[in-house]
Amino acid sequence: MPYVDELLEFQSRLELSVAGRRRARRGKESSQGFVCIHCRNPVLAQSWISGVQNRNHCPYCLRSRHLDLHRPGDRLSACKGVMHPIGMTFKKTRKKYGSLNGGELMLVHQCQACGKVSINRIAADDDPQAILAVYTASLSLDPELRALLAQNSIQPLCEQDLSVLRRGLLGAVQEEFPQL
Ligand SMILES: [Zn+2]
Ligand SMILES: [Zn+2]
Repeated sequence: MPYVDELLEFQSRLELSVAGRRRARRGKESSQGFVCIHCRNPVLAQSWISGVQNRNHCPYCLRSRHLDLHRPGDRLSACKGVMHPIGMTFKKTRKKYGSLNGGELMLVHQCQACGKVSINRIAADDDPQAILAVYTASLSLDPELRALLAQNSIQPLCEQDLSVLRRGLLGAVQEEFPQL
C-alpha cells in the first residue's frame, strides 16, 4: 500500500520537524535568559528589557558569571566562576583635546574563582538599591583590592561621587516610573 506508507512517512517527518522546531525555539529562549547562579532568580536577557546587548549580570543581586575572555559576550572563558559586584566606577571616555569626561556609570565585578576584575554596563532594570549597597560597601574596600583595581586602571567611586551616583540612579528610576 504505497499510499499508506507515504502517509506514514509524511506523518513521522512532520512530527520530527515540529519537535525540531520546538527544540530550536527552546534553545533560543534559553539563550535569551538564564537563572542567576547566586539568588536563583530567572533573568531575562532580551535587550528591550535590559537596555544592553550582552546582559551579563542578575538585576536583583548583580552577580555575574565569568564567561567572557577577550570581549563582552564572547563566552570563551573556561573559568565560569561567580563574579561579585565590588564597586562602581565611571567608564572614562576621552574627549577631544584629551580631557576626561565623567562617562557612564559602570559596575565593577571580581571573579571569586580566579580574581579577574571587569567593568560592566548597568542595565535599565538593575535594582538601584542593590547598586547603592554595592557603592556603600565599596567605600571600605580593602587596600589590596584597591591596588588591583588601580593596576587595571579602574578608579572606584568615592564619597564625593555620591551625588553623581544618586543622579544616575534616580535618572534610571524616573525613566521607568515617570510619575516619581
Ligand atoms: Zn541574582
Ligand atoms: Zn574567573
